[in-house]
Amino acid sequence: MTQAPGVSENGRLCGACDLCCRVLRVDALAKRGGRACVHQVGNGGGCRIHAGRPRICRAYECLWLGGGLEEGDRPDRLGAVIDIVRGEGAPYLAIRQQRGGTFETSARLQAIADRFRETLPVRVTRAEDAENADRPYRVLLAAGVEQRIAGEWVEVWRSGERQSRSRMPWAERRLRALTLAWQRFRQRKMS
Ligand code: SF4
Ligand code: SF4
Repeated sequence: MTQAPGVSENGRLCGACDLCCRVLRVDALAKRGGRACVHQVGNGGGCRIHAGRPRICRAYECLWLGGGLEEGDRPDRLGAVIDIVRGEGAPYLAIRQQRGGTFETSARLQAIADRFRETLPVRVTRAEDAENADRPYRVLLAAGVEQRIAGEWVEVWRSGERQSRSRMPWAERRLRALTLAWQRFRQRKMS
């Protein structure tokens, strides 16, 4: 029983891709982000428990599977899982690299980011950082502006030059501290 994780309504198939099974967190399985799922067959073999996989796995559809990217942009070829996150805050495009440095060397990932950043913030993270609740990340914004966030500090870049560096406002720092505490508590429970 080794089938690919998903088939979309538009007829696309995950096929040999199982990148989200490695990159994403699955609380129902106590699976941590950035680590292979124990149910992965490996080598593009899909999911061992396909018929009985958790609801979240059934529901998940990356942007490529949903038809939002070109046919050739399947995540395992890009080296990144891409989706639109609609949580409590404003929506953003998430580019989760399987390995750090992929985005910087991939013209295709950069072209995808350029296509979206005028209308939606593009957040670039690395799966290997998924266990680090305090991980640095980049946010690409319209008009060539970029934020580089590390800890409580935010750098603003434009056209490859740093424009400013400042500490987050108090309210954001407080929210961030609460979020980190919650993430660390959850990670301890999953260990
Ligand atoms: S990343 Fe997308 S295409 Fe790849 S297995 Fe997950 S849902 Fe399917
Ligand atoms: S249970 Fe199956 S579909 Fe879900 S993360 Fe694990 S391998 Fe992927």
